[in-house]
Amino acid sequence: AIGMVASAQANFMRVIVQISNTPTPTLGVELLCVVRALLKKIKRRVSVGDKVLVGSIDWVDGRGMIENVFQRKSEILDPPVANVDHLLVFFSLDQPKLEPFSLTRFLVEAESTGIPITLVLNKMELVDETTLITWKSRLRSWGYEPVFCSVETKHGLDTLKFILREKTSVIVGPSGVGKSSLINALRGDHSGIDSAGEDDCLDPFAGSKWFEDQRVGEVSVRSGRGKHTTRHVSLLPLSGGGYLADTPGFNQPSLMKVTRQSLPQYFPEIQKILSDSYPETCSFNDCLHLGDQGCIVKGDWERFPHYFQLHDEIKIREGYQLRTL
Ligand code: GDP
Ligand code: ZN
Repeated sequence: AIGMVASAQANFMRVIVQISNTPTPTLGVELLCVVRALLKKIKRRVSVGDKVLVGSIDWVDGRGMIENVFQRKSEILDPPVANVDHLLVFFSLDQPKLEPFSLTRFLVEAESTGIPITLVLNKMELVDETTLITWKSRLRSWGYEPVFCSVETKHGLDTLKFILREKTSVIVGPSGVGKSSLINALRGDHSGIDSAGEDDCLDPFAGSKWFEDQRVGEVSVRSGRGKHTTRHVSLLPLSGGGYLADTPGFNQPSLMKVTRQSLPQYFPEIQKILSDSYPETCSFNDCLHLGDQGCIVKGDWERFPHYFQLHDEIKIREGYQLRTL
């Protein structure tokens, strides 16, 4: 059977296997699987989100063995999830206040993954109508269509569920904005997953408490580069047939994979200027679009200072990397 790894702990993986061509909401059976030794030998790492081939299935006990891993369509490392096809960039309008430059950092980090983005602004009940309208038009000028919601009042949550359907999503954003609150609001909303085994009490990670137990297993590991936390991430099945990672991502956008050359691709405003003026282009082939003479990207858009600042930051980092080679 073909399934998807929903969570992993030590040598055990929970794999959700579709039993037939069921319509949404997703109907699946959960199997507790080990990874075939040969796969480990050839260093094929299996991670949460991977599409896998399961063999040696014991439907009564709900056990199986992961025989092979399909090619990944995408991969993010924080949290470690394969085949993510949607990122929710999640901020709050107030408490903490929406900070434009911080939002830009998250948007750039998110854009650099190549995964489609939805921008969500939470705690909408804390601000007035005018503030919402102002942010909406402001963010539209950045190239984003924001979705407003309040996890507290549940306003906008149905729209969010609709946006999340049939996708594997990860929430990213700063702390305090309500990410965990949203995950909890959607957790157990509807599962549609049956556990195949009946003698779950023999299972060390038994039954419905599996998802909640994840955090207990968190371990801190000290490596040469500082303190790292090994996080156990699980994919929660959603009522619309999609999945949501129960661990939010990149709390501190490092922009480590962003170069000065790639940075313009992560600003929709620059992309729009370039496509609007096509076939006219900048005088220099590899123009970095800093608004110099001969550059068609003029600095008359709101986030130009953000672009400039990130450009400088990356330049300093790249210079530093050059010196330490
Ligand atoms: P996280 O750090 O992003 O995971 O944020 P949390 O989910 O821990 O939420 C931080 C605080 O914001 C908590 O006290 C929540 O109760 C609160 N919170 C979450 N959503 C809302 C909301 O829509 N409105 C208001 N007023 N508070 C919220
Ligand atoms: Zn240019």
